[in-house]
Amino acid sequence: MDMREAVKKAIHYGAIQGILQYYICPEECEAHCCKHGQIHIFEEEYRIFSLIDPQKAKRIQSEMPASPLYRIETPCSFLKPHNRCGVYYERPIVCGLYPFKVNTSGNSIGLQPCPVGFLIIREFALWMISNISKAGISDEEKTRVIAQWENTIESYAEELSGFHMKNTLKEIQIPFDELEMFAMYMASKDLPRINSGVDLG
Ligand code: SF4
Ligand code: SF4
Repeated sequence: MDMREAVKKAIHYGAIQGILQYYICPEECEAHCCKHGQIHIFEEEYRIFSLIDPQKAKRIQSEMPASPLYRIETPCSFLKPHNRCGVYYERPIVCGLYPFKVNTSGNSIGLQPCPVGFLIIREFALWMISNISKAGISDEEKTRVIAQWENTIESYAEELSGFHMKNTLKEIQIPFDELEMFAMYMASKDLPRINSGVDLG
């Protein structure tokens, strides 16, 4: 298994794609993440960019002399004028993940409340509320946990407001087992797969 495949397996990339396929970025966001994000990619991904377009790849720099990570100078030179990724099928793992973000815990993944990320957070919270409503716990406990999730939705809605002006966003952490179950739940809803195999460029 090559390094990229091993990373994808470790971060449950398949489940993440299973969720993201039901969402599309709003035009108004104007590819904010590709223009202002902190985008770190692997050397192998840098090499792919260099083969695709050596001129554009000049805007990708090594983080440090001995580091295996490279940083895409933003706005990304592979972004098309109409704000779609020009290398959609070759895009780095970090781009394919966003608004999910890798953390160092090894057992969960972060999710940031950009416009699409907030929609996912809200759906996730509503799914948790529906699960809690059916759980075999006391009514008092249900009310308490449901209120916590409702507060979570409100606080990430606040974080979303004015997100274009923020340098950092707080992010929710989703354990991998819940991520997998949520992906299955999304699949069970039989929604249109907006991003499934579609070249949005
Ligand atoms: S992933 Fe989020 S920040 Fe990036 S373009 Fe889509 S909505 Fe905007
Ligand atoms: S490679 Fe594509 S998705 Fe990633 S920053 Fe560049 S344009 Fe955006």
